[in-house]
Formats: sequence, C-alpha cells, structure tokens
Amino acid sequence: MAKKENKFKDYGIATQSIHTGTDYDAETGAVRRPLHMANSYKLPDDLSKVNYSSTDLLMYARNGNPNQHWLEEKIAALHGAEDAVVLASGVGALHALFWTLLSSGDRVVYPKVSYMAVYRMFHELFNRKFGVDTVMADMTDLDAVRRAITPGTRLVHIETPDNPTVGVTDIAAIARIAHENGALLSVDNTFASPLNQRPLELGADFVVEALTKFINGHGDAQGGAIISNDLETMDRIRYEAQVNVGSVISPFNAWQIFRGSVTFPLRMRQINASTQRIAEWLEARENVTFVSYPGLPSHPGHALAKRQMKNGFGGVISFGLNADDRTVERFCAALKVVTFAVSLGHDESLIFPQPSYDERILLYPERFRRGFIRFSVGLEEPEDIIGDLDQALVAVGL
Ligand SMILES: *Cc1c(COP(=O)(O)O)cnc(C)c1O
Repeated sequence: MAKKENKFKDYGIATQSIHTGTDYDAETGAVRRPLHMANSYKLPDDLSKVNYSSTDLLMYARNGNPNQHWLEEKIAALHGAEDAVVLASGVGALHALFWTLLSSGDRVVYPKVSYMAVYRMFHELFNRKFGVDTVMADMTDLDAVRRAITPGTRLVHIETPDNPTVGVTDIAAIARIAHENGALLSVDNTFASPLNQRPLELGADFVVEALTKFINGHGDAQGGAIISNDLETMDRIRYEAQVNVGSVISPFNAWQIFRGSVTFPLRMRQINASTQRIAEWLEARENVTFVSYPGLPSHPGHALAKRQMKNGFGGVISFGLNADDRTVERFCAALKVVTFAVSLGHDESLIFPQPSYDERILLYPERFRRGFIRFSVGLEEPEDIIGDLDQALVAVGL
C-alpha cells in the first residue's frame, strides 16, 4: 500500500487524532468520509499487472478497504511512525506479527506475565505446532532477559505495563539487549496507549495496540494494529498474514474505531488523572493488600515509568483484597457504577477478578496470588467510582 504523507505530523496528538486520515468526501464534499461496505471492487481492464496477494489495489475486502487504510494513517501518526497495519483484533495483530517473523527453529523470548493469548500462543501453540523455541522470561529482570536471549533468537516480545499485574518493563534496555544479539523487539503498548508511551522512539522495532481498548474507547468494536518503521516487514505482514491468513478488519469496525479514536487523547488524559486518584485512594483503604499502578511511588517500576512514559500512567490498576475468591466475586457483583465484565479501556469502568485457581497466577509475583483484581478506570466522575468501590467493600464486610 502506498504510504500517505502525514500533513499534520508537526501538530500535537489531539490535533492529529482529529485531522489525520480524514478529508472531504471526494464525491459529495461531506466533511466525513463514508463507510464503504463493499467486499469487492471494479478491476482494471488490463489484468496482467494485478497481483491478487497484494494490498496495493482495492480489489477484494481481504486485500484492504478504504476505511482500514484511513485508520492505518491515523494509527501510524499517533506513534509518529511510517506505517501501521490494522487487523481484526489485538490478538489478530499479535498473531500476524509472530506468524510473519517466526519460523521453526527460531527462538522467541516472551514475558512471564502477558496477555492470555500470548501465553497460549507461545506456551502451547507455536512451539508444539511449528517447532518454534519459545522461552519465557521475567522481563523486569534484565539479567534474566540476557540469559534467555541466545544466538538464533529472532524476536523478544514484551508488554508494558503488563496485563494483568501492571508491571513495568524497560523498553530501551531490552531493545539494546535484543539488538546486540541480532533479535527484534516488539512491544504490546495497549495498557499505556500512544498518548503515554511511544516504544518506537525508545528503540522497539514493532508496536502492537489492541484498538479494542483505549483507542476505540467505547466498548463497541474490535480491532488491532501493528505499527513500525520497517516497511519491508510491514509489507510481508500484509502479504503473509492479512491477505493469505485473513485476519482483516471489517470496514464497519474500522469506521467505528476511526470515530472513537477522534477523542482518544482527550479521554486518555482524563483517564490518566482519574486512575491516579483512584489508585491513591485504594492504597489507603483497609483490606486492600496491594495496589499496582506505575503512578504510585510504591510501584517497583515507578522511576522507570516516569522515564519512559509521559502524560500519565494509563487507565489500569491491579489490586488485591484480603479475601477469598468467592468474596472477591461478591465484591465485583456488588458494584453499581463499575461494570463487572472483561476488557478494559472503555468509557465505563470495568472490573475483572482473576481467581486463585487460574493456572497463570503461579507465574505472577507472590502478592498477586490472592484476592487479585484488574480494574480499568472509565470516564465516570472519579468520586462516583470511589464511592462505588467503598460501598461494595462495605457490602462484603471489608
Ligand atoms: C485486550 C488485549 C489484547 C487483545 O486485543 P483483542 O482485541 O481482545 O484481541 C492484547 N494485548 C493486551 C495487553 C490486551 O489488553
């Protein structure tokens, strides 16, 4: 796909979020570009030059659609990057990247604490099905990372802050270690979002964003993006993963995410501020055993987060209650403002406990293994969220 020049690249992120990728509609002059639901397009008269596995020509929706392309321009701009590929989900984007980069015999080093699908892909799928050498490492321990990376390591994948413990990993340091060993670095930036963290500027080769979360921000669409300045690999991702494996985004989801992302910087600034306040409140509350949020001085990655993040520390907190699994579930169910559901980064606050019998919990630091909750702060009045948490704690006797 031909790269469009970003006319707004010298402007701030809120301006780019509004103006990049949009224009007057050529046919009608409408100030909003249309939603193109077509799944196929008129072919040129001379077919001899058509490459059916390419994304350069609009010909079939799996090879790309205009709403996807306009969203790609904006997502690249939010990271100050040359290119973005937008796919059907955050996991679709992660898989597209791993599938394109990894071959049997290659080593990938992945985090002990990560999004569940990354754990599944590397703990049981890429290794068993394709003979990829998948090695787990504690990414907060640089010596452990150095030990895990051997010659033949193709990719190091990290997530920071991580899902769900909200641990912080040093992007620049791991980029250096990876590059010294001839490996590439990919960073899942979903928890931070591009307002707060731009890993390409810290040395990462690829960034993945689950657009489903803060960038769309309204809990009504699914999408994911890979962002990079490595144009050659991005073209391979389009060929090897988008067109020939097929995780393409629907035009409607791309249109919805484009619309949601217009207000992304504004929403994220409010979410940063509310989350900081709520994290401080939680930390002072009795029967809360720990609060993990990089904006708190008590977080082991606080100083690092201050260096590599800007504007704020994101919208997700993890915390523990001095309670058993059943009481934690009753607490979540007793909330009236906060919604008891998976996902994060919506307009509404979302809460999700991870029970002590979950197989992955043994990979988390000790304090995360009892009464563990992931909390995504939304755009409700922060006092209302705090009041709600308080009444639900009281309701279950905490
Ligand atoms: C949600 C999430 C994903 C996956 O996104 P989907 O759109 O649900 O596939 C990936 N990484 C992180 C950190 C997430 O929170």
